[in-house]
Amino acid sequence: MLMEKIIAKYKDMGLRLTPQRIAILKYLDGNTSHPTADNIYRDVKQTYPTLSFATVYNTLQTLREHGEVMEVTIDPIRKHYDPNTSPHHHVICISCNDLWDVFVDYSDVLKLPSNVAKGIKTVGVHVDFYGLCKNCQKSERG
Ligand code: ZN
Ligand code: MN
Repeated sequence: MLMEKIIAKYKDMGLRLTPQRIAILKYLDGNTSHPTADNIYRDVKQTYPTLSFATVYNTLQTLREHGEVMEVTIDPIRKHYDPNTSPHHHVICISCNDLWDVFVDYSDVLKLPSNVAKGIKTVGVHVDFYGLCKNCQKSERG
């Protein structure tokens, strides 16, 4: 998305736009790496040494409240953030905690068993995959 558009959108949210916050928005725009708050803090701090972790955290919360960023909770250690808020799934490497997108619609494949459904009309299906990435498989073999 064009940076001017992004900035206009965040002004609408009532977010006071400091250079640090704009840098966070730029960092997240189109980012598919599912960064943690700490990742964002460390990366953006390299260009903006005065950046505080609280700014990263508060910006993420505002974005989340406005549906502009999604919290990904597949990692039991820490939350990851995803600017792609369209419905999708993730696969995590249980060794290095890297994670990737899975753009498959499972709603036709996965059905609640009738004894569990109890009249519930399913409106969404979310799948988390756990595995070992290529690199971690190599290091496991030694
Ligand atoms: Zn791995
Ligand atoms: Mn994702």
